[in-house]
Amino acid sequence: MHGKNPKRMANNPSRIHIFFMFQITFLGTSGGTPTVERGMPALALKYESDLLLFDCGEGTQRQLMRYKVGYGSVDAIFISHPHLDHYLGLFGYLETLRLSSPSPRHLDLFLPRGVEIADRYPFATVAQLKKKDLLKKPDYEVSAIPVKHCRDSFCFIFREADRIKFHEEKAHSLGMSGTMFKEIQKKGKVKTGTGEVLLSDVSWVKPGRKIVYSGDSAAGEEIIEAAQGADLLIHEATFDKARKTEALERLHSTAEDAAGIAKRAGVKRLILTHISPRYSEPSALLEEARAVFPETEIAFDGMKVDL
Ligand SMILES: [Zn+2]
Ligand SMILES: [Zn+2]
Repeated sequence: MHGKNPKRMANNPSRIHIFFMFQITFLGTSGGTPTVERGMPALALKYESDLLLFDCGEGTQRQLMRYKVGYGSVDAIFISHPHLDHYLGLFGYLETLRLSSPSPRHLDLFLPRGVEIADRYPFATVAQLKKKDLLKKPDYEVSAIPVKHCRDSFCFIFREADRIKFHEEKAHSLGMSGTMFKEIQKKGKVKTGTGEVLLSDVSWVKPGRKIVYSGDSAAGEEIIEAAQGADLLIHEATFDKARKTEALERLHSTAEDAAGIAKRAGVKRLILTHISPRYSEPSALLEEARAVFPETEIAFDGMKVDL
């Protein structure tokens, strides 16, 4: 599905919404301080023509350029919590947008208490992060759930809308054609030459995909609940299990913690990020996580994931 726009075939409603571009790019995967290999936390989610950023650590604007993630076309930025490593890049990015275009495209900012921007960015709208649905679009929504870290720390849930898919042959055999596909979605039934057809007779619901990003978070029930059944959980793994005490004290997670959450939440896939600079070679983190949850990977800067 790489790089393709959704195919909308108006004459064939059963094919609508098949190809939705859905790509995640890890822009920065370090925790606390950067390394040569790992930049500060930031994650880009491209869904069709929309581009969302989750966290915007120092240097994010250069990472957007480096990994070719639509530099000037970010629609919304969500900052998970008011620790500098997660939002210092916001100021540079906004300033560059202001300087590079007389009228940059509109940008929605969702900021936790404690993160404020100057008032010279009329193209940006600021909303304070709260436990709620933040962004609602016809095809998806983004919501925030509080997690255990510092004050005003949140994880984010991206949820794609469920879609109605048609059993094409059956629908045609019952006399459906053309605009009847639209009508039946609206009214739940439609009259055809062969009689009345119910939506449930000729269709099924394809559940939307769900992605959860932990931000910085100690292992806790709230994140397990938020991640229930997710197609992808992106979870911080600042420490290895030998440093469990430190993780508890500083309200971070170990790789094993993250894997335990993935397992209990029944997610399909886990990617670890926010790797402490002390692990220049993070294979031990991967090993301890896979012992608990085999479908685990470790993020690296520039990693792209197609869903
Ligand atoms: Zn952090
Ligand atoms: Zn933090």
